[in-house]
Amino acid sequence: MKVFKFGGASVKDAEGVKNVVKIIRAFPSKDLVVIISAMGKMTNAFEALMEAYTFKQDELRDSISKIKTFHFGIIDKLDLSKDSLERVEDIFSKLERRLERPHSDNFDYDYDQIVSYGEVLSTTIISSYLNENGVQCHWADARLIVRTDSSYREAMVDWGKTEALVEEEWAKVQPSHGTRRLMLTQGFIGHTPELTTTTLGREGSDFTAAIFSYVLKAEDVTIWKDVPGVLNADPKYFSDAVMLKRISYKEAIELAYYGASVIHPKTIKPLQNKGIVLKVKSFLNHEEEGTRIDVSTFSDSLVPSYIFKVNQILISFTPRDFSFVNEDNLSELFGYFVSNGIKINLMQNSALNFSICVDYDETKLERLMEKFSDRYEVFYNRPCELVTIRHYDQETISRLLIGKKVLVEQKSRNTARMVLMEG
Ligand code: ASP
Ligand code: MG
Repeated sequence: MKVFKFGGASVKDAEGVKNVVKIIRAFPSKDLVVIISAMGKMTNAFEALMEAYTFKQDELRDSISKIKTFHFGIIDKLDLSKDSLERVEDIFSKLERRLERPHSDNFDYDYDQIVSYGEVLSTTIISSYLNENGVQCHWADARLIVRTDSSYREAMVDWGKTEALVEEEWAKVQPSHGTRRLMLTQGFIGHTPELTTTTLGREGSDFTAAIFSYVLKAEDVTIWKDVPGVLNADPKYFSDAVMLKRISYKEAIELAYYGASVIHPKTIKPLQNKGIVLKVKSFLNHEEEGTRIDVSTFSDSLVPSYIFKVNQILISFTPRDFSFVNEDNLSELFGYFVSNGIKINLMQNSALNFSICVDYDETKLERLMEKFSDRYEVFYNRPCELVTIRHYDQETISRLLIGKKVLVEQKSRNTARMVLMEG
């Protein structure tokens, strides 16, 4: 069997839904589990609804009506039956009843109860369209299948329970026309042992695809995107970005770790553990090969990859009493970073100086200066960008440095990282 994952961009309008159905039809003899995200930018719209519900009641009407107009617009173009329309209306009635109740004092809990509707709506609409157009499909409710703990908005999967529930659901699916089994379910969402809805974190649908692949021992999983595959650079910054035809699980994790928006690193681990091939392909050209991610490291070093993080700040700490930067100082600094949500993108130290490169955040910077300025000289440079080059060579580095000043440079055998400023 195979697993497919379609993200919001692939189902942003009625044409997109039809295209997804075309791709599903192109694999008529394969058992398929299809994981789908909320349509278009609907998760952002639901986040805005959540803000309105909690903080700005006067914007609530407007927020919900935007979401309704969007979905009913698509339903209209798909020409769905009255039954299907009623099913969607029922979902909205439930949501509206929920929004009439006062919010709880747990924002993250409320968020999961409300934002999860994005996936429920998209899969309901798409499964209706499939079934009404001759593709028999089983709609499964991930809120009863993916078992998690109750860390709302970043729930941790209970693999044992989830495995049993996925298998149980898959066993219910009947082959359509005696050929294949097709199950459609939501990415991103799950449930606690008390049957409360949870979400797995933004971009969590890729991870859902990995969960189903792992449990059902898929031959491969395909993430369908609006790019031809995994690219060696963000085409926003590089007009000559090229596709990586094949990379290893390890390389994919490395790229994700340094900030490439490839696939969430959490997605790779379950696939690597069972040797399941991950394909990243374009939903616009479904016959193209795309990128293949598997165990082979053979092609990893063929093309250098560039990862840019912009809007960075380089902060340096020097103890005022001229003590070395030692474990005591570092443990105090790190304790502070952890409890204040400061994520380090790169760090470096010398005898009297400890530097970190982090995403710039004005409030966090002010607080940090206040906390440490009496005992450390705290300097900073901004705006900086952090560049990571995997499988670098001198030529690519020189090309990147034109017109830039290098503040920090770190090189290992495969990876060069630099904090740069306009020079
Ligand atoms: N819809 C969710 C999001 O936009 C999950 C996903 O698409 O992966 O983050
Ligand atoms: Mg996505």
